[in-house]
Amino acid sequence: MRQTLLTVMLLVVPPACGLTVHAADKPTAASWQAGVSRVVITPPEFIWMSGYGGRSHPAEGKVHDLYARATAIRDAKGETVVFVATDLVGVPKVMATTVAAAAEKKHGLPRRSLMIACSHTHCGPALDDRLSYMLDMKEADWKAIREYQVWLNQKVIEVVDAAIADLQPARLSTGNGVCRFAANRRTPKGIGPYDHDVPVLKIETPDGSKVRGLVFGYACHNTTLGFYQWCGDYSGFAQLYLEDRYPDAIAMFYTGGGADQNPLPRRKIELAQKYGRMLGVSVDEVLDKPMQTVSGNLASSFEEVPLEFNRLPTRAELEARHESSSRYERARAKLLLSEWDRDGSLPKTWPYPIQVWKLGRKINWVALGGELVVDYQIRLKRELGKDSTWVTGYANNVMAYIPSERVLEEGGYEGDTSMIVYQLPSKWKAGLEDQIVSTVHRLAKQNSVAK
Ligand SMILES: [Zn+2]
Repeated sequence: MRQTLLTVMLLVVPPACGLTVHAADKPTAASWQAGVSRVVITPPEFIWMSGYGGRSHPAEGKVHDLYARATAIRDAKGETVVFVATDLVGVPKVMATTVAAAAEKKHGLPRRSLMIACSHTHCGPALDDRLSYMLDMKEADWKAIREYQVWLNQKVIEVVDAAIADLQPARLSTGNGVCRFAANRRTPKGIGPYDHDVPVLKIETPDGSKVRGLVFGYACHNTTLGFYQWCGDYSGFAQLYLEDRYPDAIAMFYTGGGADQNPLPRRKIELAQKYGRMLGVSVDEVLDKPMQTVSGNLASSFEEVPLEFNRLPTRAELEARHESSSRYERARAKLLLSEWDRDGSLPKTWPYPIQVWKLGRKINWVALGGELVVDYQIRLKRELGKDSTWVTGYANNVMAYIPSERVLEEGGYEGDTSMIVYQLPSKWKAGLEDQIVSTVHRLAKQNSVAK
């Protein structure tokens, strides 16, 4: 009876009063509110697809729709965070900036409290970002991509609005599962480091009668498929599997440090379906076991740090590359020369987004931009806590591969040559791993103090 009365009081007492702060120390169901939402973001037209530079024409069919999904989480003090999961290859800067500005204006949501992730499906649309310059598109194709981007930004704003509008009392719990199809793809294949963990956040009604939302991550490239059909790839199938199993739930996937991990073998739709089912079952197995109730409050931090390029090319070098036999080199030289003409020089750094959320007392949820290799995930879990650290890669802006110091030194695609397809001037300068990890530690500490 007492519990019921307290629950009712919590619902009517405005945030930030003494009673709610005190009550938040107890893991009562009413400590949290959560909202979930989902919108279709499949392009209305068959525009070009991203992920592979070798594609020669736009999409020509659809396996299933692509979605943006979101959850808003609010603690007893009224602190709110919104997580957005998208079936997209990347998060263009223009999308992150536009959505963040709208969320701040409409809901007072600060930038630090909005996390935009992507599944990195290679069967999604080309976006208005540098990566799309790797495609052999004509001006009319670019126009269609840019128009889609404007439409997409509005859809993502809508999904954020809907998640916030859906806020209602909730119970949150976490657990960790395992799924084994990811393999280190660098040479020699299958030998290097990997992380098969599947972190799961479960959002339920306060009485536990309904699962309303699931957030789960996995460190693996979403590259089973490379054909001309819209498809979320393995994570698209995993989300749909879970939404089928839990019809009241929205299932949201994020890619961890999966840049050097591939689903192997690949290239058949049956394999993408199988990996999706494997990942969905891994989440299911976590839900079947006792999970940890999330208690406490929220805290969030966000910062952009300047990641430095190793060496800027000279004008003569760019002009020579403009005549290269490689289409990708030519495209990069053309873009960089046009930026040089416009700005008078090339930028020496890229503003790299680093975000850390504290979810309750235990979970550090780290979100890092770019195609993040698994070394970051392994290191951050070792340094911040194995079962209490979630690492979301490909978050808030995907501008390039983000190699660890080891991968940068080894070179190869993830350490060096992928910068050509991302149209950036050179590989990253040594020292980025410590720059990123030390910022994560500082933000995590900042969150602890804030609480
Ligand atoms: Zn990739």
